[in-house]
Amino acid sequence: MTPADLIRDDIRALRAYHVPDSAGLIKLDAMENPYPWPEALREDWLATLRHADLNRYPDPRGRDLQAALREAMGLPADMALLLGNGSDELIQMLAMAVAQPGRKVLSLDPGFVMYRMIALFAGLDYVGVPLRSEDFGLALEATLTAIAREEPALTYIAYPNNPTGNLFDAAAIERIIQASPGLVIVDEAYAPFTDQSFIPRLGEWPNLLVMRTVSKMGLAGLRLGYLAGPPEWLAEIDKVRLPYNVNTLTQASAAFALRHHAAWDAQTATIRAERATLFDALAAIDGITPYPSDANFILARTEPGRAGAVFQGLLDRGVLVKKLDGAHPLLADCLRITVGTPQENAALLNALEAALSID
Ligand code: PMP
Repeated sequence: MTPADLIRDDIRALRAYHVPDSAGLIKLDAMENPYPWPEALREDWLATLRHADLNRYPDPRGRDLQAALREAMGLPADMALLLGNGSDELIQMLAMAVAQPGRKVLSLDPGFVMYRMIALFAGLDYVGVPLRSEDFGLALEATLTAIAREEPALTYIAYPNNPTGNLFDAAAIERIIQASPGLVIVDEAYAPFTDQSFIPRLGEWPNLLVMRTVSKMGLAGLRLGYLAGPPEWLAEIDKVRLPYNVNTLTQASAAFALRHHAAWDAQTATIRAERATLFDALAAIDGITPYPSDANFILARTEPGRAGAVFQGLLDRGVLVKKLDGAHPLLADCLRITVGTPQENAALLNALEAALSID
């Protein structure tokens, strides 16, 4: 018996999710918050963890954490929450709960790769509707046509979108929710960097769910995502959740951070301000075209055929960004740059100037 006899062909054909080695590099590839846990809160946080009973399983539903999340996000009282080990796990739970031969997941391309990957893992068909090539906006008529044709069980809309960074037109998203026979999940992973949200709209349509994560606010290492929506939907999806999926240290640390959110709000406000500075600096560089962003990263296009050399030139100078050229036709010549600290952004800009000046 070999893997070829046992492992599904579609799984063997995959390449495992690749995380590049970033040791010693300025890490601007993964949309992380560059700031560590706020120093002034470190002792109080550690004191909280001292009370954690690690001999026991975690609270299965994370009740204290749910209360902190509800308050922080202003969740309407009649809406429920489901917690996941990162929002990736919630995407997996949604897939498992609906998967049947012939069922479909729809999203907008280029978009977050895990919608497609997890659909494949679960045996669901993935349908990607291309964004508008000129500005990465939502192509509403094409999307509505695809929804009518494919009748997707799940439709994901990242708001703002990864890797393009833009917010889609809210009225277009409303039309999609109304037209969808299945669930529409508005993925607000980048909520800390925009003022727009569908949380206040929950309940307006029975098929709307909103997904968020603490990763981008500065807690990526905790692995915590959450899904908000009508209790009758979440009670069903909860049935495929593995027991104790959110560990005790994550529950305690995230609840602590949410109750002291001002410290993280200050970090995300700094990142938002730096985003504007970095955008202007990138726009001023000959040979680079940045796209406007409502997230904590900026998509930038090099001159045709130059993305690989620019990516390598940055790497040679100690800066790691994400090369997207080749990932999707609309991303030709594109790099995705996470907004770092002012020092990291300055180092990136210097490295970029140097990389571009060499032919
Ligand atoms: N949704 C989007 C749009 C993302 O870009 C990401 C992470 N890059 C996620 C979800 C996953 O977040 P988490 O860290 O909570 O798994």
